[in-house]
Amino acid sequence: MKRRAFIQTGSLIGAAGAAGALGLGLTRGGDDREGAGVGPGTGVAVPTSSDTGSGAEPRYAAEPDLVLRRATVFDGTGAPGLELDVAVTGDRITEVGTITATGAEEIDLAGMALTPGFIDIHSHADLSLLVNPNAESRIRQGVTLEIVGQDGNSVGPMSDAGFRATRDRYRDTYGVDIDFRDLGGFLDQLDRTPATVNLATMIGHGTIRGLVVGGGDRPATDDEIQRMRVLIREALDQGAVGFSSGLEYTPGSFADVNELVELAKALQGTGYPYASHMRNEDDRLFAAVEETLHVGRMAGVPVQVSHLKAQGERNWWKAEAVLRSIEEARSSGLDVHFDRYPYIAYATGLSGLFPAWARAGGTGAFIRHLRDPAELPAIERFTRAKVALLGSWDAVQISSIRTAGNAYARGRRLGELAQERGEEPFALTVRLIVEEGNSVGMIGFGMSEDNTAEFLGHPLGMVCSDGGSYAPYGALSGGSPHPRGYGTFPRLMGHYVRSGALSLELAVHKATALPARKIGLTDRGVIEPGAFADLVAFNPTTVADQATFEDPHQYPVGIPLVIVNGQVTLRDGEQTGARAGRAIRGRGAAA
Ligand SMILES: [Zn+2]
Repeated sequence: MKRRAFIQTGSLIGAAGAAGALGLGLTRGGDDREGAGVGPGTGVAVPTSSDTGSGAEPRYAAEPDLVLRRATVFDGTGAPGLELDVAVTGDRITEVGTITATGAEEIDLAGMALTPGFIDIHSHADLSLLVNPNAESRIRQGVTLEIVGQDGNSVGPMSDAGFRATRDRYRDTYGVDIDFRDLGGFLDQLDRTPATVNLATMIGHGTIRGLVVGGGDRPATDDEIQRMRVLIREALDQGAVGFSSGLEYTPGSFADVNELVELAKALQGTGYPYASHMRNEDDRLFAAVEETLHVGRMAGVPVQVSHLKAQGERNWWKAEAVLRSIEEARSSGLDVHFDRYPYIAYATGLSGLFPAWARAGGTGAFIRHLRDPAELPAIERFTRAKVALLGSWDAVQISSIRTAGNAYARGRRLGELAQERGEEPFALTVRLIVEEGNSVGMIGFGMSEDNTAEFLGHPLGMVCSDGGSYAPYGALSGGSPHPRGYGTFPRLMGHYVRSGALSLELAVHKATALPARKIGLTDRGVIEPGAFADLVAFNPTTVADQATFEDPHQYPVGIPLVIVNGQVTLRDGEQTGARAGRAIRGRGAAA
């Protein structure tokens, strides 16, 4: 029997002034179901005398749909675990404590940790949720909310040409119909064809710059900045929960700091963050961090530094100083956090080894530069310096390749591969880019393990996957993606917690309530009466990632149960067929 679940109105959160207003209006989709539960035939809901909840509204005597018993509950706030029962009715948590009522379903979780579902503050799942709504690599690691549209790259808005190219590619490659060209359409599509996980999206700077300014290396005019601001406000009104930039990618890299400040101002009054993949993550890291903090200060908006790192051994010492400057910005009033994935290698396009000027103007122009003997020496100097920063050609692993002809390169280190084939490594790299039409992915090994543990444990740090949604079968099983797409959260809860980098309650907080608050959600990321029932149970002594750089398409172990919006989605480690994920919309641009 379904009962009306009550909603706890959250308190004001963080420095996001508008957050109080975010508490109720931020999600859609659940409202209808709650209403449906109080119709004729559901009986009279009687407030009980055992109402010990938050006091805002009465609790109803009812048989819960589901009672989870005897787990050690980590509620997401950072509090230590307590052995408690959790009751779920409809899509909400209705009671936490010692529960006497018997649920329609009972699950014994003795020995398990029970936490809010993990929230991935920097996810690249995006359109792949339409390709495989099971979101296998995501739900099986306990992710229940993807925050996509990262690195300046969001699903929309699309130009006419961009729309046709996306529609054709998804139809031809995956058999998926794309009939939308903006974020509102994407979120509506997810409502019609839900995935196992929830999704919220930011609006990407590179996406709108490509639309308004084009792919060229030039500053935006004042008029173009105004037009981009209008697009950001439209995206916010369609439900975007932040504005992201990717300043190492084209065309985002062509923006100057003034453009970023002026555009980030579009977030004023919303409480949503400016999230940035910064202009540099190695030799010019300090300047890049200062630029990012400056944008937040000048625009007066919260900041999320994406996947913070100090890349290349000669830059490892910078980690401490960067953390200090973020702490100082925080104590001077800027609502700043950062996120980081629990791995020492990054993944990007192989073109990332090449200078931005050579990549300006798209793939055709890039390949013409690479074929021009007059320009190649300058390109080669840049690329060799970039590789030297990582260490050697063997610090670069090819992760994805488009054609069968070059499939041998997939999963291989460039140095080893070049030697094996008798090719010069730079020449091999250029040849792959040219023959693959620049559709080559790479993984770069260049981060310090000590820094990684410190970033993950820092109080202002969240954990992100920076990864996509994959499956060991079907359309999303190709290539050799970064293992973080499968293993981020179990690696945090397993390897990094058990090795002492941080406590389990802190790890849970960084993966749940902290990212929820950053995007203004008070009713997810916590285990408390009234919150949405996004939950994950795992065995803290055995939870572990299994995906490796060599063999990434592997599910983690030790995560038997995942619940999304009250629906058991993973049971005994297997999908139940539930697809209860929702499109989660922000409350729109402030008036
Ligand atoms: Zn990034």
